[in-house]
Amino acid sequence: MSAKYIFVTGGVVSSLGKGLAAASIGCLLESRGFSVNIMKFDPYLNVDPGTMSPFQHGEVFVTDDGAETDLDLGHYERFTHAKLSRDNNWTTGRIYEQIIAKERRGDYLGKTVQVIPHVTNEIKSAMKKVAQDVDVAIVEIGGTVGDIESLPFMEAIRQMRQELGRDNTLFVHVTLVPFIAAAQELKTKPTQHSVKELLSIGIQPNILLCRTDRFLSKDIKSKIALFCNVEEEAVITAKDVASIYEVPLVFSHEGVDALIMKYLRLEPKEKDLKPWKELVERVNNPKGDVKIAIVGKYVEYEDSYKSLKEALVHGALAHNLKLSVNWIEAEGLEAGQRACEEQLQDYDGILVPGGFGKRGIEGMLQAIRYAREQKVPYFGICLGMQTACIEFARNVCGLAEANSSEFDPATAHRVIYKLRELRGVEELGGTMRLGAWICKIEPGTLAHKIYGQAEISERHRHRYEFNREYEEQLTAAGLRISGSTPDGTYVEMVELPDHPHFIGCQFHPEFKSKPLEPHPLFRTFIGAAYERGQKRESEKNAAELEMFHRPVKVAIR
Ligand code: GLN
Repeated sequence: MSAKYIFVTGGVVSSLGKGLAAASIGCLLESRGFSVNIMKFDPYLNVDPGTMSPFQHGEVFVTDDGAETDLDLGHYERFTHAKLSRDNNWTTGRIYEQIIAKERRGDYLGKTVQVIPHVTNEIKSAMKKVAQDVDVAIVEIGGTVGDIESLPFMEAIRQMRQELGRDNTLFVHVTLVPFIAAAQELKTKPTQHSVKELLSIGIQPNILLCRTDRFLSKDIKSKIALFCNVEEEAVITAKDVASIYEVPLVFSHEGVDALIMKYLRLEPKEKDLKPWKELVERVNNPKGDVKIAIVGKYVEYEDSYKSLKEALVHGALAHNLKLSVNWIEAEGLEAGQRACEEQLQDYDGILVPGGFGKRGIEGMLQAIRYAREQKVPYFGICLGMQTACIEFARNVCGLAEANSSEFDPATAHRVIYKLRELRGVEELGGTMRLGAWICKIEPGTLAHKIYGQAEISERHRHRYEFNREYEEQLTAAGLRISGSTPDGTYVEMVELPDHPHFIGCQFHPEFKSKPLEPHPLFRTFIGAAYERGQKRESEKNAAELEMFHRPVKVAIR
């Protein structure tokens, strides 16, 4: 049987959570026993987001096959079991790259190459490729209806409806129903305009997911239904929620899955959302909290470390804890250990995440020193592992000039240097060590205890590596290399046995963490941090108790 398609578009404004909506629909369909795949088209001209600033575009999510993709693919993986690859994310740039390569090869046999049909055909064949072997393919179109750049994608999904018919295609439109405080009313006009815009390009939406901060009354729903030409039951309240993991439950409550099965004529199957309900139960009833400091180059921007933040949440949920995370600007720690004491003392764990460039490095090194010396649980990811090695080389091995050639190409001690396989490569696009690689874990290490297995596979995105010339010196002083590539070329994990929890990895475990399958590195880091918090709390209480019982000397004159 060939797959059915659900097309997700967005209107009125960006950031309405189309990606989360697509992922939640996937989750609901899986809960009904259907297999799904999810893909996203991004209308911008970059070939991929790999060279775009995460502070402008958000995180670059990496798939097993090493594609640098949009962060929404992270949501797709966290909410479903879809196996994602570079086939699941296409930009206008990549579509055109394909077409131009074909044109140069002469594949078009003398024809004029045009948006319709050549670009739209390329888009449609990309959709059909991900739809192989699944019951339902969910296709998210990035951007907002009305954008010039998204037109070829809109046209392609319109053609898909023409080709495959009503029973095999479904249009879901995510829109906004704002509450206007001055009028004390929910306003439907932006939604009406957005649907009108869709209609003008030949697309009649079937389901409207209305983002709003309160429930839509029956009156409002019927008004939207009337003006937008959809059934009243297909006007869905997509109300703001405290946790993103509640979205599938909200959609389920509004009957989204039942509607999809009805419209797509899918044989109804029993629904099982128990694991998600239990998860949300845990989100709402934490037994305590844990405070983590992330020390990074810039202060936080909401989307730039999406997977990292979610992975920390998963780690906390695994222990039934509420996570509080604060971003500490690394440059503010450059003054030294006193600045670290002032800014980091209230945290239970310290994390240095991935990053590029020199800015803030000295502050990160101070934070790592503080974590190492004060025995605060430390977790270093990619750049955070590299800086942990530099800190150890400088402050434990006495190599004051230890550095990465990324930050100081002329340094006498290049403890971290450019990946040997990348020497001579100067182009920036797609030229890192990317995607999943096998790592062998040393028995008897913390890493081995955490993973419980000798071989793992994790995703990478980096240009620099640990320089094995320093291995002997650093390990003699107490650093342990706990993971390497099977051929021994690359160091993948380091740790400090003489510390309650100090671990660094060259890969990005955050890309593989899911709410229902928290990543072991995040689970154990949070566990260690919580333990430290509890211990500090009880020490503080004991000290206060002792103060209270101490005999008071009263001077008698
Ligand atoms: N800048 C470092 C490198 O390229 C770290 C990269 C990262 O943290 N993702 O190796």
